[in-house]
Amino acid sequence: MGMRRILVTGGAGFLGSHLCDRLVAQGHDVICVDNFFTSQKGNVAHLLGKPNFELIRHDVTHPLWLEVDEIYNAACPAAPGHYQYNPIKTMKTSVLGAINVLGMARRCRAKVLQFSTSEVYGDPTVHPQPESYRGNVNTLGPRACYDEGKRAAETLFMDYHRMNRVNIRIVRIFNTYGPRMHPFDGRVISNFIRQALHNQDITIYGEGKQSRSFCFVDDLITGIISMMNAPDDFIGPVNIGNPVEFTMKQLAEMVIELTQSKSNLVYKPAPEDDPSQRQPDITLAKARLGFDASIPLREGLTRTIAYFRKLNLDDFRPPTPNY
Ligand code: NAD
Ligand code: UDP
Repeated sequence: MGMRRILVTGGAGFLGSHLCDRLVAQGHDVICVDNFFTSQKGNVAHLLGKPNFELIRHDVTHPLWLEVDEIYNAACPAAPGHYQYNPIKTMKTSVLGAINVLGMARRCRAKVLQFSTSEVYGDPTVHPQPESYRGNVNTLGPRACYDEGKRAAETLFMDYHRMNRVNIRIVRIFNTYGPRMHPFDGRVISNFIRQALHNQDITIYGEGKQSRSFCFVDDLITGIISMMNAPDDFIGPVNIGNPVEFTMKQLAEMVIELTQSKSNLVYKPAPEDDPSQRQPDITLAKARLGFDASIPLREGLTRTIAYFRKLNLDDFRPPTPNY
C-alpha cells in the first residue's frame, strides 16, 4: 500500500515524535495528537511546516473524530515519576484512550497498534521474558496504575479484535532511550546523563544490582513499524527491545566514562515494587518481523549524551498538573 493517513497518539512524546519523523519521511499523511502532559512542542516543531504533518492538541480520554487508515496508540505517561504523578489519570489514559482509538478503528476499518510494555510482566519470575509469560504484577502498588492500565488496554484490544474483527497489533516495548527523552522524567538514563554532565552525584536506587536491557530509539521505531506492516495473521503480543542486559551500576559507570564526569555514585533507597531484572526474549520478533537490535548501548548512549549536552534545561518543566 502507498501513502496512508496515520494517527499517532502521544505523537509529541519521546517515542511518538521519532515515529512521526519516520512516517512523515516515508511520505504518509501524519496526524499527531497530544495533550503535552509529558512533552513539549519542541519535539515536533521541525515537522510543523510540512504539508503531510498535522498537530492536534487533544486528550485521548475524550473521543476524537478523524478519518484514518492506521493508528499508533502511544499516548500515556511512561516514566514512573510521570505516571505516578496522577495515577487515576494514568489509568484513564490507558483504558479510555484504548476504547476511543479502538472505536475509531472499528468505524474507519483502520489498523491499530498498541504501545504496550514490559511492565505487563511486573517484577518477573521468569527470565528472560517470553510473550507467553503472564507476569507478576502487584495490583495494589504504586506502579499498578500503569501496569494494570496497560494490561487492561491489551485486553480491550483483544476483545475488540475478537468481537468486532478490528485489525490490531500489540507490541510490548522494553526500556528504550535516546534523544528527546524528557531531561526531568526521572528515568535512569536521563537522570544519569543529566547528573554526569553537571558533575552531580549519580543516584543509584538500591544496590544497583537490578538489571534492565536498553534499546536505542531508532531500533525500536524500526520494530514498531515492521509490526504495523506485518501480515494480518500476526497481531502479537510481540516483545521489542534490545536483549543485552546491564545492571544499574554498570550503566552508571559507562555514563561516567563516556561523559568523562567527576560525579560520584550515591546509593538511595530502592523504589517500591522496582523490578529486579528485565530482559526481552525477542525470538518471536526475530522470526516473524526479522527484527534485531543493531545499536549497542555504548553507541546509543554516546548519541544521547550529545543531545543532552545541547539542551537548555530551563526550557523544560515538570509535568503540568492534570487533575
Ligand atoms: P512520553 O511521556 O515521552 O510520551 C507520551 C506522550 O503521550 C507524551 O507526549 C504525553 O504528553 C502524551 N500523553 C499522555 N497522556 C495523554 C493523554 N491523556 N492524551 C493525549 N496525550 C497524552 O513517553 P514515551 O517513552 O515516548 O512513551 C510512549 C509510549 O510508549 C507510552 O504509551 C509508553 O507506555 C510506551 N512505552 C515506552 C517505553 C520506553 O522505554 N520509552 C517502554 C514501554 C512502553
Ligand atoms: N534508577 C536508578 N537511579 C535513578 C533512576 C532510576 O537507579 O536515578 C533505577 C530504578 O530503580 C530502576 C532502573 O533504574 O531499577 C530503571 O528505572 P526507570 O525509571 O528508568 O525505568 P523502569 O523502572 O520503568 O524500567
